[in-house]
Amino acid sequence: MKELGVYIHLPFCNSKCAYCDFASGVYSEEIKERYLLRLKEDIANFDFCGRTAVSVYFGGGTPSSLRNGYIADILGSLSAVLPFSNDVEITAECNPETFTASKAAEYSQAGINRLSFGLQTDNDVLLARIGRRHTASDFFDALSAARVYFTNINADIMLGLPDQTLADVEHTLNTLIKEDIPHISAYALKVEENTRLFKEKYRPDDDLCADMYDLAYDALSSHGLSRYEVSNFARRGMECRHNLLYWKRREYVGFGAAAHSFFDNTRTENPRSLKVYLSSDFKPISRYISPSGAEAAEETLMLALRTSDGLDIAEYNKTFGGDFVRDNTSILTPLTENGFLTLTEEKLRLTDKGFYVMNEIIVRLLGG
Ligand code: SF4
Repeated sequence: MKELGVYIHLPFCNSKCAYCDFASGVYSEEIKERYLLRLKEDIANFDFCGRTAVSVYFGGGTPSSLRNGYIADILGSLSAVLPFSNDVEITAECNPETFTASKAAEYSQAGINRLSFGLQTDNDVLLARIGRRHTASDFFDALSAARVYFTNINADIMLGLPDQTLADVEHTLNTLIKEDIPHISAYALKVEENTRLFKEKYRPDDDLCADMYDLAYDALSSHGLSRYEVSNFARRGMECRHNLLYWKRREYVGFGAAAHSFFDNTRTENPRSLKVYLSSDFKPISRYISPSGAEAAEETLMLALRTSDGLDIAEYNKTFGGDFVRDNTSILTPLTENGFLTLTEEKLRLTDKGFYVMNEIIVRLLGG
């Protein structure tokens, strides 16, 4: 069975958050219906070449803001042309204020089995400051509704928000630990151009962000949520299979505006503009990547080192030839001796210390 992940981008929100640079916006019901037709057409016309879906991920945007039946309709189109594995993981991103008891029932009936809530913080003042539409209380209501059907639940939190203190982060972490959320993604805020925070000239304090990350790492790991990727923590067995596909450089196909794919050794990117995506003749940007070439090797290394599982050295040597350890001794030796990497016969991994300077280590390994 050749495994595949499917990503469906649903770029619809009820308003724009102050930090958001995603391909998302506020659109009419008519556009949402045209988009649905376009998605279904793209899915029906795609040649999956005998693959089996092991994960389907509805991201956005705010998938939970869409009318009842919208997501079930997409899943119906997909399952008509692509077999799903028995244990397929089907995730929907949800914002707390749009996730109701009826949404929980609808999603469960449609086959969704994992929910990812955009909480960001449980401090109502901070939530308002960054333009979120929910309160902490909305999150608790959504969680109660979700728990009737779902156990596989993620909460996203953000570090480095304007006016956010270490005590705020600690409070949010304690809330999630008390609620026994099995998967938490903790992202450091990056202020992108074209966001409200950028225009307000807000820039996070790197040192404070690092302290917040330390706090998250300590609190979560001491409560049984291991860091399995630089920003992702989970109880054993609750890791997000969809994201693991990305980091293991497995195949995935993305549908919708701004969606990316990696299929048949080709990386493809759909147009970000909804208008262009909805036009009949858009051309995605495509690039073939030789499966045993230098670019594939770099991607494999970069992605693997993000994860606590690390790089499988034998597999790497088999795919790309050569002897990774021998060929890189002069770079690996100082990094292992100084405690940034651990190297066994099977794996190359970042240490806790190495995770802090992950990008620099990757650049060095790539010969930069
Ligand atoms: S809800 Fe998510 S996608 Fe929508 S504006 Fe806010 S951060 Fe962006």
